[in-house]
Amino acid sequence: MPDAVSAQVLKIALPSPLRRLFDYLPNRQTPTGGWQPGLRVRVPFGRREVVGVIIELTDHSELPRAQLRQVSDTLDDAPLPTDWRWLCQFAARYYQHSLGDTLHMAMPARLRQGHPMAGRTQTLWRAAGAADDERLARAPKQAGLHALLLQHPHGLPGRAVSAHGFSRDQLMALEKKGLAHAKDITLTAPAPPSGSLLASPALPLNREQATALAALHEKLDDYHPCLLEGVTGSGKTEVYLQLIEAVAAKGKQSLVLVPEIGLTPQTLARFKNRFRVPVVALHSGLTDPERLDVWEAAASGRALIIIGTRSAIFTPLANPGAIIVDEEHDGSYKQQDGLRYHARDLAVARAHRHKIPLLLGSATPSLESLQQALTGTYRHLRLTQRPSRHPPAKLELVDMRHQRRQGGLLPASLTAIKNTLAGGKQVLIFINRRGFAPTLACHACGWIAECGQCDARMTLHRQPPLLACHHCDSRCGLPDACPDCGSGDLRALGSGTERTEETLQGLFPKTTVQRIDRDSTRRKDSFEHMLKDIQRGEPCLLVGTQMLAKGHHLPHVTLVVVVNADGGLYAADFRALEHSAQLLEQVAGRAGRAAHPGRVLVQTLHPDDPHLGQLAEHGYGALARNLLEERRLAQLPPFCFMALLRIESPKEDAALALAQQAAQALREWLTQSATPARCLGPVPAPMERRQNRYHLQVMLAADKRSQLHAAASWLVQWLEANRDARRVRWSIDIDPQSLS
Ligand code: ADP
Ligand code: ZN
Ligand code: ZN
Repeated sequence: MPDAVSAQVLKIALPSPLRRLFDYLPNRQTPTGGWQPGLRVRVPFGRREVVGVIIELTDHSELPRAQLRQVSDTLDDAPLPTDWRWLCQFAARYYQHSLGDTLHMAMPARLRQGHPMAGRTQTLWRAAGAADDERLARAPKQAGLHALLLQHPHGLPGRAVSAHGFSRDQLMALEKKGLAHAKDITLTAPAPPSGSLLASPALPLNREQATALAALHEKLDDYHPCLLEGVTGSGKTEVYLQLIEAVAAKGKQSLVLVPEIGLTPQTLARFKNRFRVPVVALHSGLTDPERLDVWEAAASGRALIIIGTRSAIFTPLANPGAIIVDEEHDGSYKQQDGLRYHARDLAVARAHRHKIPLLLGSATPSLESLQQALTGTYRHLRLTQRPSRHPPAKLELVDMRHQRRQGGLLPASLTAIKNTLAGGKQVLIFINRRGFAPTLACHACGWIAECGQCDARMTLHRQPPLLACHHCDSRCGLPDACPDCGSGDLRALGSGTERTEETLQGLFPKTTVQRIDRDSTRRKDSFEHMLKDIQRGEPCLLVGTQMLAKGHHLPHVTLVVVVNADGGLYAADFRALEHSAQLLEQVAGRAGRAAHPGRVLVQTLHPDDPHLGQLAEHGYGALARNLLEERRLAQLPPFCFMALLRIESPKEDAALALAQQAAQALREWLTQSATPARCLGPVPAPMERRQNRYHLQVMLAADKRSQLHAAASWLVQWLEANRDARRVRWSIDIDPQSLS
């Protein structure tokens, strides 16, 4: 009888960019549970040994058996969690990435390095459906297996199934028909839930919150995607907390994703204070063993509440109950290299697979999610009021044209700052540019300090004094004189956070000015300390980049000044306007969150811009609906689907030659296969030269996802087979979030 154990060839996913599996032979040390998919093994690969994951067992290989090498070591007795493996396979396929790389990226470092898992899981098979299912009538073996499983409602391990004389193929056939399914259980008993779940009582909900929660309660055991569109401070987090409570009461797990910046002690503390069950957090501060602990706690079902940033979407869950994505529009959910996944989109796939609710929350939803909500694919839940009763502040546009500025600030802004400080309150000055000034120029000849490696200017920093390129991180000392004409009249043009801080300190010498950007918070914990200081409530001036703008509760800030709102207005990237409106609305949301009403001043060179006007007058929701209409007319996402091929090389002609070849081959294939997708380009990337490498793009667009994926998949295969493609660096980005 052929069973899993007698299969002679193991197909293994290895950490390699190649989109294929590698064939190996089993060694003599058969793992306790037999050879099976999902086991980690160590194998010789070239001259190294690497850790891979068994994906399939077969009895044939394209290579002659003599050429196959043996597995050196088996690292697990039980396979890695099934739901996790499914997600990795889904992501690899969806993003056209190597499965081996995906698995490696998605597993904790300790597992990647070949360390053992501490806890043990086991896969148990259970029957589904009825004994008299007609599809079993002509398959007596399968009917027998089904009957066996029905006799063991708690499940049978794969080994027991084969001990009863049934094959893995029969088991797979049953699974395919939906008459059997596998479940991973931990061999150590999970901590029993004891007594009340709550450490502190839930808040009584207002009407809108109650309506939203009731809608969520309606369907806790099925796929139920919801968009919670709620203005900043409207109590979305309270809705999350009460959904988690309902899910935990059923003994099920909630996975909560937050943007990088939101995972502050503040957010975490709110969850920890609410629940008596442990809340585990996955963040960049964890050590590798801690990370593995969290992984196992989630995989075993011990952890009921798991909070983490982007990569936490790859947390295995024994009893998934709900997935929540806070600030679902946030750009940090998209990984920008390697496997270019979007954690929100994978959350949708996971919730669908597990048949559980998915809650996407945002004050400024992405146009993708908003469109799904407006068309009814997602349930649309809304919170329009703040519990504090103060409506979010309206944006007041302040005309920057023909006005003198000090440290980037207009006289009207400085007056408002002065009055706010006199009233004992705090001011947030938002400026999305760190450093002292974005440009250093020679007043005599017009020379401008540029990066030697990029098509970009060097930013002038004063603390410490240097010129830095924010694109490649190259640095150099400040020149004493112009390298072109020798003049000593070098001037800093424009303002960054350092200059605004310096100006304000000069104007308000008795007030604390706190600069908060990547440079001032480099030391671990310094950001946390600053936030604590700020929350004590002394009048002060906060000069910050978007680090400060997102998600933080700053109860004493009543005035927000946006130094320059124009960044996204006329940018080439069709998403720039959406992203910049989201940021503005988030910044504005920092004002007047507590007992005091707030004001938001927005400095702009384009006070008559219709988009900016709509944002100021009617808020993000109105602008977003308008932008959707524009996208529909232009046939841009979410009304079409895109993929971007990026090609880069230190040699401009090599990059261009390959890009042209690829675009031409793709066009021919699209015509031949009658695939209605469009291929645009090649075009140079918005910053063509970066770190002395030339960047080009080929864009692919289609009306249907299946068409896009067919074309992208063909393109990737073409590139993998192409010799010239090995001489440049290329990557494919499915659903790119930025065209840079
Ligand atoms: P969001 O997540 O939408 O930004 P939060 O959940 O942080 O909003 O709520 C903003 C503030 O309002 C918090 O201080 C929170 O404690 C408070 N809050 C939320 N819901 C209620 C409620 N139902 N009753 C009283 N206060 C509430
Ligand atoms: Zn000069
Ligand atoms: Zn540079």
